[in-house]
Amino acid sequence: MTVPAAEPILEPTSDRPVLTVSLAALAGNHWTLREAARKAELAAVVKADAYGLGFQPVAAKLKALGCTTFFVATLDEGRALRAAVGANPRIFVLNGLPRGAGSVFASHALTPVLNNLEEIREWADLGRRPAAIHLDTGMSRAGLSHDELSRLAGDTALLARLDIALIMSHLANGDEPGNARNAVQLARFKDALARLPAAPASLAASGGIFLGPDYHFDLVRPGIGLYGGNPLTGAPNPVRGVVTLTAEVLGLRTLAPGETAGYGGTYTATRETRLAVCNIGYADGLLRALSGKGVAYIGDIPCPYAGRVSMDLLTIDVSAVPADLVARGTPVEIIGQHMSIEAMATLAGTVNYEILTGLGTRFTRLAVDSHWTRVV
Ligand SMILES: *Cc1c(COP(=O)(O)O)cnc(C)c1O
Repeated sequence: MTVPAAEPILEPTSDRPVLTVSLAALAGNHWTLREAARKAELAAVVKADAYGLGFQPVAAKLKALGCTTFFVATLDEGRALRAAVGANPRIFVLNGLPRGAGSVFASHALTPVLNNLEEIREWADLGRRPAAIHLDTGMSRAGLSHDELSRLAGDTALLARLDIALIMSHLANGDEPGNARNAVQLARFKDALARLPAAPASLAASGGIFLGPDYHFDLVRPGIGLYGGNPLTGAPNPVRGVVTLTAEVLGLRTLAPGETAGYGGTYTATRETRLAVCNIGYADGLLRALSGKGVAYIGDIPCPYAGRVSMDLLTIDVSAVPADLVARGTPVEIIGQHMSIEAMATLAGTVNYEILTGLGTRFTRLAVDSHWTRVV
């Protein structure tokens, strides 16, 4: 008589936290921004690996939603994106034209955002190919200065050698609808446009879209809003969260009053305290600045970070969780329904952008649409 083999236990394929990107939420945010941007073309900024979400599934979804213009920061990002989205979408490279890189732009059909006169001249010398011209209207970062704009506007020979696909500028306070500097930048941008040959124009990133139609021009360039980050400071979030990050309890211990936890012993139990150690740390992008400040969730119950975040592990106080609801293997919400990227950023003393772009490379990453899941 043969003994039937025991039902196999499903083997975990990974012991890593799970980062889930909801492509349905991304699509919802795309819709919200498109409504807000009215007649302007809705381009998508997918620099920094789509703000840490993973540019492959994000760009594929945005392309399926009808997006035909993408922005990346670097030439490398542009090349990778071109391979992912195929020949048709326009890809603008925000950081401009590195010296001597013109032929690489041409061979991958990438469009540089030219940030100074030197780049403009070098690009024009390669023949008449499309480029964006970036004007500085108050950011003092990338873009032609007022003086360079005057020189360009006066150089008809140079202008004749340019194919200007877009004239753009960037707001320094686009997240603050009440800030008077927005109107100053808008006025400077309009003045500059009047001095250059007619071309499609773009001023607004995510925040600028909500400053009203005066700021929309022909094309808007949201990043953070697509990815669920609140593009406005001090106002309700018009979009919804796209990312959830779930860690797992590896083990539990009980501390007597007076015992300490973690590097430096910065946490001291004031009463009998149950701690859970979780499979996530700062090497996963969980900011060490959250030490003693962050809050994780088991179900609906807040579990404060106990002591320092270490490289691969996080210790949380689970005293408030009923003992039968927390065990080895229990899921722990790091980012999600209860802990938004804005709330986490506030606790860490940073911004939602840095929370997203800091998301590490050691997660099991899932892109979930309404009908399918893909491991990416
Ligand atoms: C990053 C960036 C954007 C997108 O900004 P969000 O605030 O994320 O919408 C748009 N334009 C430029 C020039 C940028 O650098």
